Amino acid sequence: MKIPFVDLKAQYKTIKTEVDKAIQSVITDTAFINGKYVNEFENNFASALNINHCIGVGNGTDAITIALKSLNIGNNDEVITAANSFFATSEAITNAGAKVVFVDCLPETYTIDYSKIEEKITNNTKAIIPVHLYGYPAEMDKICEIAKKHNLFIVEDSAQAHLVEFNINGKWKKIGSYGDIATFSFYPGKNLGAYGDAGALVTNDEEIARKIRMYANHGRISKYDHEFEGFNSRMDGIQGAILNVKLKYLNEWTGKRQNAAKKYSELLSNVKDVVLPVWNGNAKPVFHLYVIRSSKRDELKQFLIDNGISCGIHYPITLPNLTAYKHLGHIPEDFPLSTKYQDEILSLPIFPEITDEQIQYVCDTIKEFFK
Ligand SMILES: *Cc1c(COP(=O)(O)O)cnc(C)c1O
Repeated sequence: MKIPFVDLKAQYKTIKTEVDKAIQSVITDTAFINGKYVNEFENNFASALNINHCIGVGNGTDAITIALKSLNIGNNDEVITAANSFFATSEAITNAGAKVVFVDCLPETYTIDYSKIEEKITNNTKAIIPVHLYGYPAEMDKICEIAKKHNLFIVEDSAQAHLVEFNINGKWKKIGSYGDIATFSFYPGKNLGAYGDAGALVTNDEEIARKIRMYANHGRISKYDHEFEGFNSRMDGIQGAILNVKLKYLNEWTGKRQNAAKKYSELLSNVKDVVLPVWNGNAKPVFHLYVIRSSKRDELKQFLIDNGISCGIHYPITLPNLTAYKHLGHIPEDFPLSTKYQDEILSLPIFPEITDEQIQYVCDTIKEFFK
């Protein structure tokens, strides 16, 4: 059996007629950049998250940079984020002109360790960027308390976390409105993926939304009048139209990911050599990735590949250990958990269309390896 890591073709087949028609409409209407299909998607995505404003942009990395600029952050301000994320999170902070300050992760859920945030706060700290990594929500109750106490902004990097829910005191809310701004990526492999690059920002604050819209579009007030210098980062009409079609199915697809994760966890529960993802009562993760850990990770990965199973590592070098951050002078011991986990984590295939037989085969193969 051959199992891909994600199967975007299988998904396209299920919505081909609708998607092809949507693309054709954009061309017929020449609504190539922003325009009515992007507006329609922005409104629908805001409703899906129960947030007032959504602004489509070019990609999820730009979304983070634009978020910081719109909050007036840059110019050597410090921004705290997770040591274990995709490179874009820290890259976007630097590109906004700010300094990135890393914090290690929690042992159970791999999101930012809130208990280590306060020791990194200085007079220059302006914001915290928690990352809802793998589709698991960061501990937003704790993070919001810290931000409030120290008067910091929160930008939620929600690139992997469309429709994730978190609850505080029994009140469930979708991720995105805990912070001042949340940023999303619609990179093709994300839970809601475009057919090219695309991203978005959401916020409940009207004035911040206005600034985001301007930053994403050359600081423009009207066609040739510019209040400040911004970026050229707008969503393509074709991507907006495709996302509009796919958004209708996102709940259903998310449910299928959650079922697949449950199935993996059941079948692997008695394999004592692997650490499975855990989720507790205040989170409804959406399993962008299903990540296990093993001290024999590299051998296990090779065994799976040899048996036709594609898998991934997210991410093999934790951010402060990258060449790009050598100048910060960190040693691996500064981030003991994310440094340890970079050699143990393994992402198993997960996508809405994955079948029970495929999951069974992956789990049987893992058991075979440890026999
Ligand atoms: C994908 C991703 C991004 C960047 O999104 P792009 O659309 O690829 O620019 C940022 N942060 C995280 C955590 C991501 O997974």
